Amino acid sequence: MKYISTRGGHEVSSFREVVLAGLADDGGLFVPASYPKFSAEKIQSFANLSYSELAFEVISPFIDGDIPDEDLRKILSETYSENFRHPKIAPLLKIAEGEYLLELFHGPTLAFKDFALQLLGRLFDYFLRDSDKKISILGATSGDTGSAAIAGCAGREHVEIYILHPKGKVSEVQRRQMTTVLADNVHNIALDGNFDDCQNIVKEIFGDLEFKAQHNLSAVNSINWGRIVAQIVYYFYTAAQLGRLDKPTAFSVPTGNFGDILAGWIAHKMGLPIEKLVIATNKNDILHRFMQNGEYAKTKVEHSLSPSMDIQISSNFERLLFEYHGRDGDNISAKINELKEQGAFKVEAGILSKIKGIFASSNVDDEETITTISQIYKESGEILDPHTAIGVLAARENKGAAPVVTLATAHPAKFPDAVVKACGKHPELPEHLAGLLHREEKFAECENSAEAVRAIISAKSS
Ligand SMILES: *Cc1c(COP(=O)(O)O)cnc(C)c1O
Repeated sequence: MKYISTRGGHEVSSFREVVLAGLADDGGLFVPASYPKFSAEKIQSFANLSYSELAFEVISPFIDGDIPDEDLRKILSETYSENFRHPKIAPLLKIAEGEYLLELFHGPTLAFKDFALQLLGRLFDYFLRDSDKKISILGATSGDTGSAAIAGCAGREHVEIYILHPKGKVSEVQRRQMTTVLADNVHNIALDGNFDDCQNIVKEIFGDLEFKAQHNLSAVNSINWGRIVAQIVYYFYTAAQLGRLDKPTAFSVPTGNFGDILAGWIAHKMGLPIEKLVIATNKNDILHRFMQNGEYAKTKVEHSLSPSMDIQISSNFERLLFEYHGRDGDNISAKINELKEQGAFKVEAGILSKIKGIFASSNVDDEETITTISQIYKESGEILDPHTAIGVLAARENKGAAPVVTLATAHPAKFPDAVVKACGKHPELPEHLAGLLHREEKFAECENSAEAVRAIISAKSS
């Protein structure tokens, strides 16, 4: 399988290259030269596979030679093993007639991002195994991504990971999920600034191409293709668990950067019957507004009870637009420039109506989020985290004939404040994190400057 950029300006690349690079040189996102397609019989054969066996079937067509089958099977069976603390890895739970939750929060950091980042860390190590090279991962986090990336990279021989967080501005649980990982290759940096400062410093350092090359810097943000492929698997797995590999199912997906739901759309392209993909947003609703009028217009980020969906633009949406514009990279490039210069672009009515053939959307504010947590608790006894609650309400607002599965993207114990407010109950952390608040922490404090962060990276890798 070869990969091309959504902006048409990057040479054709292999799976290994796109995983190690993250972003294409022209600023675009990597997509496969064509999407593989399974026959109906092949899809039926997925019925009784274990999670990691299914992952092999779904992921291997995208790798095509870069990893021998035997090695890939081994990597996947290590990835989806005891680090996920449920025998089914991604269990399905019925909450009402025709309504289900797909629990994606049994991984080490209690959010769906573990599905991708547990794999990505292992892929980095695998691809660099015969060299004395290391990859340096640099990122800024206000929440889930940092801890999942750290958990995926900790102890990997060929990886150093540097994660910036704004000092004193992430919740204690989220900070400790990062800082209590004591592995030598994990470098938490508490920056004397806010989240935007952290992001700007990361951007500035990535813009310093000499430094970037010297330290073999890469990112693990949600545009990395290696993350997307990992997320396709659980759409097939859901249909298998429901006995619906040959009949349509609807999915509702709490959405920020559009990575998780894009994976659902790819599953559909690969042949999985899907009735509808519901884009569930919070008040940062650029995608919901797009679905009304075809205009993709930036506004400023607002803080919400579902912080992992507080985004200004949804980066992975570019991959979908590329497809719906006949894979015309120049067209996408022009649109992205318009977005940069004028803050918005529009797509043709005909294209919007095609997108609406498979996607629907809802936006859900904080008040509705709380009401939904409370209502589902009363109805079923199940406690939802705020991101999942948004998905459940959006599922109900867009319900069709098929059963609908909401992706439960985080464990409620990650967001105790909202949960207590909604149902008066304090959600307990699972056993493996129970002692989190008493564990030793390791992090470096750093002044608010790119220079100071560069110095930390240089000191480590020289
Ligand atoms: C990252 C995240 C999301 C958003 O996922 P995208 O792939 O960015 O759309 C939703 N819920 C939780 C809990 C997350 O951590």
